[in-house]
Amino acid sequence: MQYDNLIECSRCGSDACYTQEVTPEIKLEFCYGCGFQSHSLMKSGTEFFTEQLALLPDLYKSLVEEEEDTSKVWMPSFTNTEEKGMVFADGTGRDNWRWAGVKSVPVSKEEKEKYKGAKYRADMTTIKHFEEHDFMEALSYIGVLPE
Ligand SMILES: [Zn+2]
Repeated sequence: MQYDNLIECSRCGSDACYTQEVTPEIKLEFCYGCGFQSHSLMKSGTEFFTEQLALLPDLYKSLVEEEEDTSKVWMPSFTNTEEKGMVFADGTGRDNWRWAGVKSVPVSKEEKEKYKGAKYRADMTTIKHFEEHDFMEALSYIGVLPE
């Protein structure tokens, strides 16, 4: 069984939480309202969770939160598309962070060597910050979502 739909986000309350049931045991949630995601296998104390957590940058680690009654774990998402750009959590800690959008630009002929043949590179001069609940605006800014 598999179905996709938008539900109310149990983290931020927006109605833009995309949910996908991969199997009856595995459910993914990705909230376009707050930019956080959860995965039903990601429960604190499990090996999977410990492994995933170890790979995260420090800011992401500090933003991971567990719902008390469901023990559902939410973590900030990281969006990266080569041609468009990326959206990631940027800041120094739980009380001081925002979403950052960075656009990609085509690599010029002169830069080809420096970027080892990549067609696009992140242009850090385009970095723009968005409040947590403006995650969707950050996606629009880099062009992943329509304006
Ligand atoms: Zn949310």
